[in-house]
Amino acid sequence: MTYVFTPPAVVAVPVANSEEKVAVRRVYCVGRNYAAHAIEMGFDPNREPPFFFCKPADAVVPVAEGEVYAFPYPSATHNLHYEAELVAVIGKSGANITVENALDHVWGYAVGLDMTRRDLQMKMREMGRPWEIGKAFDYSAPMGPIYKASEIGHVTEGAIWLTVDGAERQRSDINKLIWSVAETVAYLSTLFKLEPGDLIFTGTPEGVGAVERSQQMRVGVEGLADLVVDVK
Ligand code: MN
Repeated sequence: MTYVFTPPAVVAVPVANSEEKVAVRRVYCVGRNYAAHAIEMGFDPNREPPFFFCKPADAVVPVAEGEVYAFPYPSATHNLHYEAELVAVIGKSGANITVENALDHVWGYAVGLDMTRRDLQMKMREMGRPWEIGKAFDYSAPMGPIYKASEIGHVTEGAIWLTVDGAERQRSDINKLIWSVAETVAYLSTLFKLEPGDLIFTGTPEGVGAVERSQQMRVGVEGLADLVVDVK
């Protein structure tokens, strides 16, 4: 059997301190998962069920530790926003996972950016249309190496921050997630069967804003290597 077209390359994210990589299967993103960010986006921060959107697997750009990724400024926007996020990596398949068992399905963690064409997202939101053109564009999910939970433990607290040209724009703590990683995995698994290689961008804290060409973003989660991205 031959393919009519050459199959696309597998997108694979390096594992920190290892020669191994994780092949990306699906990319799930949680919306409004820090109260102060929900408020800045004009929403009630009270706990309502989490909601999700997806990015294509090939929107992920793996960025090695110490590497600076040159992110191409996307087309059709005049308001490109950064969103610093903790990424949870699924390592064990499952559906209808309980909160108690959820972390057994999380293999590792990484630092990620949910890059967003905010103007297009808002326009689609106002029109009640899907968010893809605002969220799921090419290269919209740069991320750092994956740290094994078996080595660093589960990331349930610790600082998360983002700077632009050295100036701090976002700072919060993972313990301020409205829906914790375990709760998010459990809830998401009632909607989709999770499989190894699925990524969950867990949401961004307050302080989102625009970046321009020639600016540099540095994203950190305590205990993980910084992710550094230049906007080109
Ligand atoms: Mn986000």
